[in-house]
Amino acid sequence: MTQTSSNKNRPPSTVRRRIVALAGGVGGAKLAQGLAQILPPEDLTVIVNTGDDFEHLGLYICPDLDTVCYTLAGLANPETGWGRVDETWNVIANVERLGGPSWFRLGDQDIATHLERTRRLKGGQPLSQITKDFCKAWDVKHTILPMSDSPVRTMVDTDEGELAFQEYFVHRRCEPKVKGFRFDGVEVAEPAIGVREALDSADAIVICPSNPWVSVDPILATLTPSPLSLRERGWGEGKPVIAVSPIIGGKTVKGPAAKMYAELGIEPSALAVARHYRNILTGFVLDHTDSKMENEIQTLKIETLVTNTLMNHLTDRARLAHDVLHFIGSL
Ligand code: GDP
Repeated sequence: MTQTSSNKNRPPSTVRRRIVALAGGVGGAKLAQGLAQILPPEDLTVIVNTGDDFEHLGLYICPDLDTVCYTLAGLANPETGWGRVDETWNVIANVERLGGPSWFRLGDQDIATHLERTRRLKGGQPLSQITKDFCKAWDVKHTILPMSDSPVRTMVDTDEGELAFQEYFVHRRCEPKVKGFRFDGVEVAEPAIGVREALDSADAIVICPSNPWVSVDPILATLTPSPLSLRERGWGEGKPVIAVSPIIGGKTVKGPAAKMYAELGIEPSALAVARHYRNILTGFVLDHTDSKMENEIQTLKIETLVTNTLMNHLTDRARLAHDVLHFIGSL
């Protein structure tokens, strides 16, 4: 029995082994955790969006990076998908009592991460090194890298003017209507230490089911000045790039991606996501619910896999990761 299930978790022999996964927070962390259940540490690097990072209460906060790290460490809150399990909220409650800002909920254990990261950043250490050391302390075996060691800030153009990402996302609860996005600092930001090497030695790149506009686009924009030139740079040529749709049945599982598509005048769907990445994709994974879109996606010269893409439990994450690896092996 045990033998059978561990065999099941082994990557199929046809699979190209080294995977780089591009991830935002919640959706990205789920698939990254599935891949981490199957691939040995040397075969998986997760490159995480830092466009959501911001400074708050004097602390340097990396929401997506922490979500991926906590998830792979088994420390994430299973209810929310972000923050820590068994969390307490004494610090933020006392900040609120003193009249300070409490709209961004920070748990006590989580604050320790931000305090120590801020101290080390102020001492001049790069974010990638700090992340590596934190992962070691949390016993995360796979490599997690921020997309850049330099600040890149996602700015949201809305009907109420331009807003910093967390101001739009958390403080304003995504209420203002989206008109576009800008990644401040991307022109000068280099990929973080280790990112280029991971991409060069990867056999395939997996774009996790993260928000295309504000989780994946900032990573793509940081990795290359023009996302459209990725294929020209050799991505997708002998190195498959596959994406998993974060949109199922026209809706997001969580978060504002579908709302953003609609406000930008695009009908939210798996097809819209495939079109979004069409210049870099070799393969696209969509849910059974959206199987009627398969043919149209194939006309974009993108291979398709239709499977169950909802990851409610740990076993769903491993199963989807397994399907993705098989798909890559077949390309
Ligand atoms: P954020 O930065 O925390 O918003 O996280 P991401 O950008 O990584 O993830 C948000 C996206 O993940 C949303 O568009 C969700 O629809 C998607 N998502 C969350 N859970 C799942 C899931 O189980 N399956 C799929 N296919 N997408 C998911």
